[in-house]
Amino acid sequence: MANHTMTQMRPAVFLDRDGVLCTEKGYVIRVEELELFPFAKACIDLLHQCGFLTICITNQSAVARGMMSEEALQRINRHLLQELSLDALYYCPHYPSAGGKFGVKCNCRKPKTGMIEQAVREFYIDRERSYLVGDRASDILCGQNAGVKTVLVESGYGTERLEQSVQADFVCDNLLVFVKKIYKECI
Ligand SMILES: [Zn+2]
Repeated sequence: MANHTMTQMRPAVFLDRDGVLCTEKGYVIRVEELELFPFAKACIDLLHQCGFLTICITNQSAVARGMMSEEALQRINRHLLQELSLDALYYCPHYPSAGGKFGVKCNCRKPKTGMIEQAVREFYIDRERSYLVGDRASDILCGQNAGVKTVLVESGYGTERLEQSVQADFVCDNLLVFVKKIYKECI
C-alpha cells in the first residue's frame, strides 16, 4: 500500500480500447490485427502534457468465450502499452454466461466499475477531474457509475448503434477532437 499522504490526487482519462484507440473490429485476436488510430499516440502525449494519467479499460470477453487465451490478450496489452505509452491498462476477461473459469459475474465488466475502482486505488485518482472516453452505452454508464465525466466518441460503433440511449457529458467525432478541446483548456 503506497503512502499517499504527501501526494496530490491526479486526474485521469480512462480510455476504452476498440473504437477509441483502435479500429472497432468485433474481436481482435492477434497483435497483427490491432489497428491503432493514427492519432492515438499523439492524443496520449497531449494528455500527459496536460497532467492526465492515461488508463485503458477494456472488456475482452473473447477470453471467456474461448476465442483467445489470456496470454494472447496480454501480448496485445503489452503492445498497446508500449506503442502508446499508456500509464496502465486494465481488462475484464469475463462473460457471465460463458463456461469455464472466466464465465463468472464479475465486478469489472463495464458498465460495472471494478476497473476504475482499482485504478483509483492504485494511482490515487481524482474522479472529479477525470474523464472516461468510450464508444458504447456500457462505457458511458460505467463512467457515470464511477463518478467521472463521460465522452462518447463516434469513431467506433457509432451513436446510432448504441445498445441503449445514454446522456454523455460530451459527444465527439473521435478521441483527437476531445483531446484538442482538453488541451486548449490546459495551456
Ligand atoms: Zn470482469
